Amino acid sequence: MKENASDFISKSTIKAADKEHRRKINYNINKYNSVVPQGKQQFSDINLAREKAKNLKWKAIENLDKQLEKFEANITKRGAKVIWAEDAQQALDAIHKICKEKNCKTLVKSKSMVTEEIHLNDFLKKNGIESVETDLGEYIQQLDGEPPYHIVTPAMHKSKEDVAKLFFEKLGTDPKLTPEQLTLVARKVLREKYVQAEVGITGANFIIADIGAIAVTENEGNARLSCAWPKTHIVVTGIEKIIPSLTDLALFWPLLATYGTGQKVTVYSTIVSGPRQENETDGPDDMYVILLDNGRTNILADEKQRESLYCIRCGACLNACPVYKNIGGHTYATAYSGPIGSVITPHLKQIDDWKHLSYASSLCGNCTEVCAVKINLHELLLENRHKAVDKGNSSFAERMAWKMWKQGMLRRKWMNMAGSSTKNWIVNNLLKGWKEHRGEIDFPKKSFNQAWKEKYGNR
Ligand code: SF4
Repeated sequence: MKENASDFISKSTIKAADKEHRRKINYNINKYNSVVPQGKQQFSDINLAREKAKNLKWKAIENLDKQLEKFEANITKRGAKVIWAEDAQQALDAIHKICKEKNCKTLVKSKSMVTEEIHLNDFLKKNGIESVETDLGEYIQQLDGEPPYHIVTPAMHKSKEDVAKLFFEKLGTDPKLTPEQLTLVARKVLREKYVQAEVGITGANFIIADIGAIAVTENEGNARLSCAWPKTHIVVTGIEKIIPSLTDLALFWPLLATYGTGQKVTVYSTIVSGPRQENETDGPDDMYVILLDNGRTNILADEKQRESLYCIRCGACLNACPVYKNIGGHTYATAYSGPIGSVITPHLKQIDDWKHLSYASSLCGNCTEVCAVKINLHELLLENRHKAVDKGNSSFAERMAWKMWKQGMLRRKWMNMAGSSTKNWIVNNLLKGWKEHRGEIDFPKKSFNQAWKEKYGNR
């Protein structure tokens, strides 16, 4: 078994038995579940809205090359510079080069999963640049030396008492501070960092092709400060974030807010279409947009997996997933966790090293059911499994076991001949891999044919 897979299994085994972890997660997910229906009320037909969003993303992704070039042409006209990065290293090198040119010692950063994907903070630290997370959840995680736990709510696994204790240990505050007081402490620390920072980095929730702009949604105003206060603004975004038109935001903004946090619309919704212009008083002198591929074109090339590029990172599939709720976000050891992470990570990285994630699913379909843009997540997980087997990424024992299973299932007479104890012995002893993390299989005393005959006669 690959190291990543065995790590995943040992971490999940520990986490699944951690009742305190489960209590905190259930508490936070229950709060999310109670507000999402309120957000949905703003749509006259929520299913139609999701369908429409899926169609818009289909349109954008099917024409990705043209849409991105359109975006580049439009935003360049207003002085922004677009950098195309094939992989994480190219993106990091570009950021490093800009930071060097700007003599950057301190950088403020708003929440961005793409920067987690390329391990930007570690890279900056190694290069002597202080990178400060300014989203409250991300700031908490950075103080604790942990990566984000969830793509929307990075500190979801922490209670308010955990955060008070952390602030006491790291910042020397009173351990009994309330959430409001803790927020004020973070605000005071971070406000100073905005003033010091030479560079601000944000992600983009959407890249808008027809006007050449990026759209950022948030609840704290920190992304707005990160892109407006420092003299240089760098946007790091995956190429799949493209939407064709500004008018599409009328659908995507409320949809993302509802499925992300149950809000009708997030508190701050910002569109940035370039650096400060001649007649403007606020904004950075320079703006760079790094368009990151890093494996996304592998997904684009795969007709079946392509729809995973429609994802708007609302996090709803994580909150709905029974596996995620039990094993938690950190167990995945990837930037993107939960069902969507299990679908895309094997393509963004190596399928051989990350295929185990596609098996960490009950295939209940709840992720597909809740997805804001109706991605067939559970089918894509199955597709990943097919791909892994087709590529020969399965053990000899597993292949033999399934061959035997198939032979048995194709011969009804064999199944009828063997009694339940023989079947139990064969399945529970020969298919050991199957049994390892599941209960023993107990076949009924009567064969299917016998049971049918007794119920319906010879029909
Ligand atoms: S796959 Fe769907 S539900 Fe999951 S994060 Fe993406 S848009 Fe949201």
